[in-house]
Amino acid sequence: MAQVPIAEGVFTGPPGDPQLVGARCRACGIVTFPAQDSCPRCAATEMDQHLLARRGRLWAWTTQDFPPPSPPYAGPTGADFVPFGVGYVDLGDVKVEARLTESDPDRLAHDMEMELVLVPLRTDADGTEVTTFAFRPVGA
Ligand SMILES: [Zn+2]
Repeated sequence: MAQVPIAEGVFTGPPGDPQLVGARCRACGIVTFPAQDSCPRCAATEMDQHLLARRGRLWAWTTQDFPPPSPPYAGPTGADFVPFGVGYVDLGDVKVEARLTESDPDRLAHDMEMELVLVPLRTDADGTEVTTFAFRPVGA
């Protein structure tokens, strides 16, 4: 079965060891995710690719109980929709908003260690599996 990422340039590396692709401002050092062409802090236009840490700490979270607006949401809708967790994970130099593999808020805790994984988002009619990134509690 073929696998394709939800979008090009968002994550890189082998499926078992993915990393998110951010950007770092050459002038002031701020890190962004997703990568941007100009700095949101100082407006410089020299941004270098910056691979983000694979592990971080859970900072805030909630449960997505209904399909988000589409686009940009490209996952299952209607009867195929399954609620999922979303949250911010603090990777040290940037906080990343992402899907979580755990959707039960009672099983998540502030400052919990999280790691980046790739998860299937949907399977297209031709059998192609579309993958996206998510954070999973370490040890889960
Ligand atoms: Zn800057």
